[in-house]
Amino acid sequence: MSYDEAKCSKRTGDKFAAINELAKRRGFFWSSFEIYGGTGGFVTYGPLGTRLKQNVETRIRELFVKKLGIFEMESSVITPSKVFEASGHVDHFKEPMVECQKCNTRFRADHLLEEKGVSSKEAEKMTLEEITQEIAIRNIVCPDCKGTFGKPQRYLTMFETTIGPYNGAVGYGRPEAAQNIFVEFNRLFNIAREKLPFGAIQIGHALRNEISPRQGLIRLREFTISDLEFFFDPEDQSCKFIKEVADEVLPILLGDTRLKECENVTLFTVREALDKKIILCEWQAFFMAMAKRLLVELGVPMEQQRFIEKLAWEKAHYSTQSFDQEVLVDRWGWVEVSGHAYRTDYDLTCHMKASGVDLRVYKEYPVPVEREEIVVKPVMTKFGPAFKGEASKVAVELAKIPVDKVIAEINKEGYIMIGNWQVLKEHIEISHQKTVERGTRFIPHVVEPSFGCDRLFYIALEYAFHVKDDRAILSFPRCITPIQVGIYPLMGKDGLDTKALELQKELTQAGFMTDYDETGSIGRRYARADEAGVALGITIDYDTLNDNTVTIRDRDSWQQVRVSIKELPQLLQEYFTGKINFESLGTLVQSK
Ligand code: AMP
Repeated sequence: MSYDEAKCSKRTGDKFAAINELAKRRGFFWSSFEIYGGTGGFVTYGPLGTRLKQNVETRIRELFVKKLGIFEMESSVITPSKVFEASGHVDHFKEPMVECQKCNTRFRADHLLEEKGVSSKEAEKMTLEEITQEIAIRNIVCPDCKGTFGKPQRYLTMFETTIGPYNGAVGYGRPEAAQNIFVEFNRLFNIAREKLPFGAIQIGHALRNEISPRQGLIRLREFTISDLEFFFDPEDQSCKFIKEVADEVLPILLGDTRLKECENVTLFTVREALDKKIILCEWQAFFMAMAKRLLVELGVPMEQQRFIEKLAWEKAHYSTQSFDQEVLVDRWGWVEVSGHAYRTDYDLTCHMKASGVDLRVYKEYPVPVEREEIVVKPVMTKFGPAFKGEASKVAVELAKIPVDKVIAEINKEGYIMIGNWQVLKEHIEISHQKTVERGTRFIPHVVEPSFGCDRLFYIALEYAFHVKDDRAILSFPRCITPIQVGIYPLMGKDGLDTKALELQKELTQAGFMTDYDETGSIGRRYARADEAGVALGITIDYDTLNDNTVTIRDRDSWQQVRVSIKELPQLLQEYFTGKINFESLGTLVQSK
């Protein structure tokens, strides 16, 4: 599918409804607290969902922690208010909200405007007065009861709590996982043997008190975020892995095309994007390439992904350049799955100021720098008699005046006034002093790729979902499929079940995720397995008892091959690591 076709493809929302139904029925996920009527924005992952989500998170760990050596850390969700005051969240982590005056339901004002045709970028930058006007002009009423709205206000979407009983200190549930990393910078830098660049990632729960979450897994009040903060010297932005991704193609929607409303995606290789200064920082380009690869691994072709450059008013004030990675989703159109911000030294500077702890790093110059300084010193043998008991006070005040100013005044007037005291030329000594500077202290810069794991999960599910012969099938990529192998004795008797259970034990010990099912006809078991996304089905039949071979069925092609049990662990290992395809597993016995 091309970008234009993707843009024009009909989004019915049917897939969203079907996936949510399947997810509930098969135990991927459902709305939490159902027995009490449910509470919007909270979700429970069931057995299949928990496994799928873990597999999605494992892909992130494989890409960043295992392959690149990014440090992983885990810190607390509840955070003292000081941290979010310093980072600017307490002042800025707010969304525009309106309340229906009839039914008192609250809505995100910008979302209501978007539903009535206002572009999201226009809605996002509106003042509260502009929102009020726009609601009136467009005659927007409560979608639930048709009531009118009160005045919009900015609502802080962090969950507030107290730390400790009674008059405990104010704390917030973290709305992202990045600040934990910034506040631990000194320790992490120490673990990195005091060398830049290095990165740290935290995958954990984030809390956002979303105003009216109505988009399933796309917008939750409690969700899993993966924040990676990569620290580097702003004077050395070269990324040592850039060659590995130089030819990776990135679909980018540039800020200026968005301004002109033409919304054209342009394909750039990473190299071109850097040469043409489309992406300013090598590390940022590198992480965008990794993010694209991650989504491809999760089953999303490039044509259904894009990186959208944030416009000046959309990005945080400290960010030099930001992109959102978006994926085309059935009901919701383009949905952000990850953010890529060049955060400069903003966060560390904020925490350094607020905590008083030095978060700078020391860099030795390749060659020490020699400087010559002009120094003005009081001649104390003259200061004493001239200023008596006030001499040291005058010396302190003199030291506060810039040297250039002292010299200029003395040369012009022959003296300089410090308060009521007249300091003459003979009271001071002007000399030249040589100093050697061996290094400098600076605050590292940061690029941040930030992924929403629940959105990645949902997207993996949606891209795996299709219907064949009226049957829902989840064709997950091999690397994330929650159950790798289903094991089915043709009958639950005659020793077939015993043989099947033995095989299950062996494959489980070899590290595979398996499922044993002996209920119903083989056809029904295959159908159940397809819906759960089980990649391969192994059937144990009467021939198995004689020749120790089994049939393996492919979820996607429904082809079947016959394989010797002895070779199974090795072959499956090669299959699930992508080294061989299905046909290479054995002798084809049936194709469908
Ligand atoms: P942000 O810090 O807002 O850029 O969010 C980082 C990532 O978290 C986004 O790219 C989304 O994938 C995800 N995300 C943000 N808000 C939510 C939410 N309410 N529910 C689920 N995922 C979210």
